[in-house]
Amino acid sequence: MISLVYSPDYALHQTGSHPENQGRLDIMMEYITREFGELTPEGGEIDIHPPTPASEEDLLQVHPLRHLEHLKNFAENGGGYLDYDTYESPQSYEIAKLAAGGAITACELVLSGHDFSYSLARPPGHHATSDQAMGFCLINNLAVALEYLRKNHDLEKFMILDFDAHYGNGTAEIFYQDPHVLYISIHQDPSTIFPGKGFVEEIGMGLGQGFNLNLPVSPGSGTSDYIYLLEKILEPVIKKFQADFYFLDVGFDSHQEDPLSHLQLDDDFYPWIASYMRKLASQMVLILEGGYSRDAMARSNLKMINVLRNKITPEEEWRPPGKLVVKEETKALFKEVQDRFSPYFTF
Ligand SMILES: [Zn+2]
Repeated sequence: MISLVYSPDYALHQTGSHPENQGRLDIMMEYITREFGELTPEGGEIDIHPPTPASEEDLLQVHPLRHLEHLKNFAENGGGYLDYDTYESPQSYEIAKLAAGGAITACELVLSGHDFSYSLARPPGHHATSDQAMGFCLINNLAVALEYLRKNHDLEKFMILDFDAHYGNGTAEIFYQDPHVLYISIHQDPSTIFPGKGFVEEIGMGLGQGFNLNLPVSPGSGTSDYIYLLEKILEPVIKKFQADFYFLDVGFDSHQEDPLSHLQLDDDFYPWIASYMRKLASQMVLILEGGYSRDAMARSNLKMINVLRNKITPEEEWRPPGKLVVKEETKALFKEVQDRFSPYFTF
C-alpha cells in the first residue's frame, strides 16, 4: 500500500509560466485518478491525506529565523524573483510551510504503519540551504522532516537517495558534517549543469566524512548507467550503514524528455529504483523534487506508484527488459567512487 500526501492548495504558490508550476502536480494527479479513481483517506491500495503545515518550531530546526522572516516578508510584500530563477508569489511562504509539513505528514504515516508514503508537493526543497532559497526551492522539505523525526521519534540514522537530475546541494550542505545522515545523490555532472556542485570529491566534512556520496554521471547517461551504478553501490552501503529510516528524493528531470537536463532516463528507471529500494529499505518516504516534462513525469510517476502500491514482496524485483548497455565513462566513474570511498565503504 502507498499513501499520498497532497493538497490542491499547492496551486497557491503561483509561478505563472515558470517551469516549476502547478501544472506539474495537476497532471500527475490526473494520471493517478484516471487509473485509480478518486482517492480517499480510507482508500484501498492507495490512499490520500492532506498535509499539515510545518510549525515554526519544526522549520527552525533547519532554517534560521532571519531566513524564514525574509521569505515571509518578501512574499507578503507582493513577491517576485528572489534570485534569477527562484520565485515567490504573495502566498508562497504559507505554501512552502505546507510543502515542508507534507514531508512530515508522510513520515508520520509510515511510522503509523503505512508501507510507503509519498509527499507530492511544491515548491520543491533540495536546493534550499539552511539560509538561502535557490533553484526554485524556498524551504528544504526533506531536511525539515528528517529533523522532525530525529527530535520526535526514537530514530538516529537516516539515508537519503536523491535521483533528481540536479545535485541536492541544500540537503547535502545541511547534513555535510553529520555522520548519522548518509546522503547519496546521482545527478548530471555538475560541470555541465546547475548547481555546479556535487563532484565525487565532495564526501562530507569532519565527522560527516564518507557520508556524502556523489555519482555525477556524464550527459547522455541513461537507465542502464543508473542501474549499473546503483546496483553496485546501494546494497553494500545500505547493509553497512543500517539506517533507521529512508528517504527517496524523487526527481523526474533526469528523464530523456525533460527540457532542463541532458540525461536519458526512460520511464523504466523509476519503477526499477522504487522496486530496488523497497527490497532494502525498512521505513521509506518519497519526496518530490523536480521534473519539467509534464507528460514524462506523470507517466513515470504512475509506473513508480504501481510498483509500490502492492504489499512488500522482497523477493520480487521489477526490472526493465533487455541487457544493460553501460557507457565507458560510467564504468570509470564507478572505479573513481570505489577508490574514493574505500576508507568508508566497500563495494
Ligand atoms: Zn532538478
